[in-house]
Amino acid sequence: MTGSDTPDWPKPEWLAKGKAAVWPPYARFDADALPVVSASGVRLTLADGRELIDGIANWWSACHGHGHPHIKAAIEAQLQRFPHVMFAGLAHESAYRLAERLTKRVPGDFSKVFFTESGSVSVEVGMKIALQHAMITGRRYATRFLSFRGGYHGDTLATMPLCDPEEGMHAMYDGVFNPALLADLPEDDATTAALDRLLADSAREIAAVVVEPLVQGAGGMKMHAPQTLRTIRRLCDRHGVLLIFDEIFTGFGRTGTMFAFEQAGAVPDILCLSKALSGGTLPLAATLARRPIAEAFESDHPAAVLMHGPTYMANALACAAANASLDLFESEPRLEQAAAIAAQLGSELESCRALPGVVDVRVMGAIGVVQMDRQTEGLRHRFPQLGVWARPFRDIVYLTPPLTIGEADLSRLTAAVHQVVSEAGR
Ligand code: PMP
Repeated sequence: MTGSDTPDWPKPEWLAKGKAAVWPPYARFDADALPVVSASGVRLTLADGRELIDGIANWWSACHGHGHPHIKAAIEAQLQRFPHVMFAGLAHESAYRLAERLTKRVPGDFSKVFFTESGSVSVEVGMKIALQHAMITGRRYATRFLSFRGGYHGDTLATMPLCDPEEGMHAMYDGVFNPALLADLPEDDATTAALDRLLADSAREIAAVVVEPLVQGAGGMKMHAPQTLRTIRRLCDRHGVLLIFDEIFTGFGRTGTMFAFEQAGAVPDILCLSKALSGGTLPLAATLARRPIAEAFESDHPAAVLMHGPTYMANALACAAANASLDLFESEPRLEQAAAIAAQLGSELESCRALPGVVDVRVMGAIGVVQMDRQTEGLRHRFPQLGVWARPFRDIVYLTPPLTIGEADLSRLTAAVHQVVSEAGR
């Protein structure tokens, strides 16, 4: 928000001093940020005492709300033992238990889990697994990736070329990197035939196809039908190409099922998880490989050793948090809560459809989107004024609240969206 929106609100001393030194994400140096002093449940408390209802759950990750006591206790218990030990040659229970639990919890024959610290890096690890798999199986020439228009897979140098080159937030890098092969999602006969042709022409050089299942998040919260994923799986099988599902946004209940791909019954070869993996508390990501992929790495081929190993991989605090988060999915009714949120978002956002400037209203699971015929970033400052934390981008105003949010708080969020969108359309 801009400073002029909060002229009288006191600001802590560290904010102004630190602002001179902090390089903010996706923003110019003069961009303001709100000083948070505590976060609990669905509420963020600012330094001046104001409370905001978190409408976007820490960039879509805080699925149990902020500071869930079970996750905090697990982190504290791990901290008493140690916060971190290097993961090469040393093992610890939190990571080993988490890997085993993930292979059991994720549908399909996933047998190996590689831990990293961010979603982008987990996608890069998925890409490296696909590249080394190609080397092991005598396809060293398969070095390219195919991704989809509207997609987003991260900010690092290897994931940027997978993002939509025109619409994505990395458009300025156009021409800097070798782009991925780009296809439209196969949503009808024409786009299915086009993807089939592209794969027929290029399968030889493709290491893997990468897609966000059911919702393309940072590309504008665009939703597609489960059938689209089945089509992609079928075409990858037909042309002998590996398939990576990037569930960094959609994983852990966000679309109404634990993982979005469950709705399609199409299982990828490689799966990327992050964000809600640790319940939005500590940086953690996981790349999972299915048994046949992992088994290829049992050969004595020189490429059968995955050349990756970040210093903080499998961080013990983060793995403890992730185990506690999985406990909560087992002991608390998160998917029922996601279904209730979906129903409420559907009924309460529907009224936005008639507002001037609105071109679409769509809901899937705990994701509610109002799409406008204009850029929405200029609306950001209004939400804190209404006691809400939301961050419209591109042409959408959206909500992805913690799955634990209550009915009254969710109504405050949808009312704020309605008000801000109606003001914008005037
Ligand atoms: N893939 C998807 C689908 C994402 O939504 C994101 C983050 N918005 C990423 C990858 C990158 O994750 P991270 O920001 O943790 O690097």
